[in-house]
Amino acid sequence: MLNLVIFGAPGSGKGTQSEKLIDNYGLYHISTGEVLRDHIARGTELGRVADTYISRGQLIPDDLMIHILGDLLDNDPRAAEGVIFDGFPRTINQAKALNKMLAERGSKVHAVIGLEVDDDELVDRLLLRGQQSGRADDNLDTIKQRLHVYHSQTQPLQEFYKEEGKYHSIHGSGAIDDIFDDIRHSLARADVHPKKQ
Ligand code: AMP
Repeated sequence: MLNLVIFGAPGSGKGTQSEKLIDNYGLYHISTGEVLRDHIARGTELGRVADTYISRGQLIPDDLMIHILGDLLDNDPRAAEGVIFDGFPRTINQAKALNKMLAERGSKVHAVIGLEVDDDELVDRLLLRGQQSGRADDNLDTIKQRLHVYHSQTQPLQEFYKEEGKYHSIHGSGAIDDIFDDIRHSLARADVHPKKQ
């Protein structure tokens, strides 16, 4: 069982590269942002709470987010076959909780892929995505807040995972396929190989 974390700022390409990782490494995708947006679309109580944070560009509180992730791991049998975690963890507390939850299930995070992109490019990408997809939090004010939250609360995870020897720094600008090649080569150096060659 292989568990990967795809890590990076909003707009760094986590969703796009996740699709390639799922396809090539045979992983199950857990995107916490998508799970929350699905709750908002269905009008659930959780969706109502999540929307108050997401629309302000803030993080959902750790205890709630960790509880949601635990439910996802427990309730979907595909999660036991290996997961790509997209958008989780976003804080040191979440990273520690993920280590604990996976250890309790006899597993671990094998590698973290960090997509690194300049803030100016991130803003341009997110504004474009907002126009194309209509995602409500892809407007300039919320984007700036999300980048601030990323730098203050999420970026410290780079050090956390570097200390664990799991962090793979990837230059996230350029052609999608070239970035994926870099990811593949970096994972191969950690002895993580695709199912499809
Ligand atoms: P994303 O689709 O990953 O960019 O997430 C969209 C929004 O959902 C974020 O800006 C947060 O408000 C919320 N969110 C997603 N994942 C998490 C998480 N792991 N912890 C806290 N909030 C999250």
